[in-house]
Amino acid sequence: MILKEIKNRLVVFTCVFLVGCATKPPHETGTFKPSDLVELIKLDSTLRLDIRYATSNNLVGRPVYNEARAFLQRPAAEALVHVNDELKQMGYRLLIFDGYRPWSVTKLFWDITPKESKKFVADPKKGSRHNRGCAIDLSLYDMTTGKEVQMPGVYDEQTERSYPDYKGGTDEQRKMRDLLRSKMEAHGFTVFEYEWWHFDYNDWRSYKIQNIQFSEIR
Ligand SMILES: [Zn+2]
Repeated sequence: MILKEIKNRLVVFTCVFLVGCATKPPHETGTFKPSDLVELIKLDSTLRLDIRYATSNNLVGRPVYNEARAFLQRPAAEALVHVNDELKQMGYRLLIFDGYRPWSVTKLFWDITPKESKKFVADPKKGSRHNRGCAIDLSLYDMTTGKEVQMPGVYDEQTERSYPDYKGGTDEQRKMRDLLRSKMEAHGFTVFEYEWWHFDYNDWRSYKIQNIQFSEIR
């Protein structure tokens, strides 16, 4: 763990001083809708948050957010509330790991991820749909037990268990994964081909990449 931390720091340190290492989000042209990021729990207080990037329990091994909060563009957030409502009737609720993500954090993930695992992270030259406030990482929790539902793999795992069509795991784990996917797809989201927990809101192209911090969102 200490070695991993040293390596992470070294990569970030090296990157800062490398010529040509992008430190700003890509320039985008075209017309975009105005950003309207909303805090998810203000729209639906029954959503449960587990913002891993505000803790050390994440792929970086240290917090990368100062605040454990989650935001999405308003239409995506409203669609998510519909998903949560439908799941409640079945005894489940949504468990949110991450929503809008400042571009600088996407850049950090890219820099610390080894080449063979790059498909699990977004290229900062293109930005992530999280940077547009139109992607969400989430799972389910069981209202009876109050516990996170077991899926075929865990959040941010960089193995084939993360693929939404992975055939391994138990019948129950695949059933839960497929339930989450079907409800999200019914409300305008598309699953990422390598991560069962990551969904893009279908109107993501309408919103620009942003780099504002949570504390700056009004
Ligand atoms: Zn994601």
